[in-house]
Amino acid sequence: MTRPLVADINLHALRHNFALIQALNPSGSTLAVLKADAYGHGALPAAQALADLAPAFAVASLEEAQALRQQGITHPILLLEGFFSADELPIIAEQGYWLMIHSQWQVEALTAYQAQIQQPTAWTLWIKVDSGMHRLGFAPQHLPSILAKLEKLAPQSMLLASHCARADELDHPLTQQQISCMQELAHQTGLPVSLANSAASLAWPAARFTWQRPGIALYGMSPFTGPQPEADQLQPVMTLRSALIAIQDYPAGSQIGYGGRGVLPEGGRVGVVACGYGDGYPRQAVEGTPVLVNGQRCPLIGRVSMDMLMVNLSHLPQAQVGDQVELWGARLPAQEVARYCDTISYTLLTGLLPRVPRRYLNPAQA
Ligand SMILES: *Cc1c(COP(=O)(O)O)cnc(C)c1O
Repeated sequence: MTRPLVADINLHALRHNFALIQALNPSGSTLAVLKADAYGHGALPAAQALADLAPAFAVASLEEAQALRQQGITHPILLLEGFFSADELPIIAEQGYWLMIHSQWQVEALTAYQAQIQQPTAWTLWIKVDSGMHRLGFAPQHLPSILAKLEKLAPQSMLLASHCARADELDHPLTQQQISCMQELAHQTGLPVSLANSAASLAWPAARFTWQRPGIALYGMSPFTGPQPEADQLQPVMTLRSALIAIQDYPAGSQIGYGGRGVLPEGGRVGVVACGYGDGYPRQAVEGTPVLVNGQRCPLIGRVSMDMLMVNLSHLPQAQVGDQVELWGARLPAQEVARYCDTISYTLLTGLLPRVPRRYLNPAQA
């Protein structure tokens, strides 16, 4: 016997989601974003499950890339923020990692490194342009001078990249402005373009360009708050499961848990679930946050504690200790739970802590 909390990872769903996004742009390519341990799903199992479908992967740091390499992943891996310090460059060159170049200081460091080693390196450079996100990247008017400097390194290939700030808002004009900006730059430079994150891939066909970079959609979460035809075909990859470990009946007026936040004016049954903020379930979850008990929605009651949370079972008189609980996943979308926690599905998935065992359902088994 062991604590019943487990995150089931359905690798078949991961493959389905990748194929769905790739099919949106058959003439282009799609890389799989595996940063933050594949959004909490496990970067290595995710990479292995996608190895024959995805031509490349993307992560946020050299450490994340190296972890995949050392465990046998031979694909090209894009470093989404490039390098943080010039001393990473020898390993990057040796492993052939693809580099996002977003700042002048990186251009200078790369140029200095190339001069010092005095031998050509087959760099693959993704040049980040700020088309409206205003986070990383060169202003479009500075691009010609940056390209002139990078061309001196005789890179193996160059590509223009940018990032959408509001593609999840289906009628916001910024996305079309960002698309137009990148179309214009592609025309001027003749370089291929990568713009689309999940929301842009799903809902903005003109944003798909040469390389799509989906993250959250691979894991089956819709980036949108309402229905969207493509996103509605995604399958959740992670299901966070636990069980009821205790049930108690309380009299009218009882206050449940820390601070007495949960109140039972008429009394009722309360179940205790083995899952808390020490596992990554958000403490911000408000009263009434949905939890599935035996497939039925029950409202969270009281504050989430470190190892446990409570649910109001008043309408489930048959519920018993040991009954199945789903915190989010196949039947309860994480993005819905996230709304009760004043956050987004991304933080629930990436916030799942290491003490929660991951149990993998292989594509063949699914
Ligand atoms: C994380 C990330 C993505 C993936 O974003 P999603 O919204 O999860 O699809 C794409 N591009 C860059 C540069 C990123 O950092």
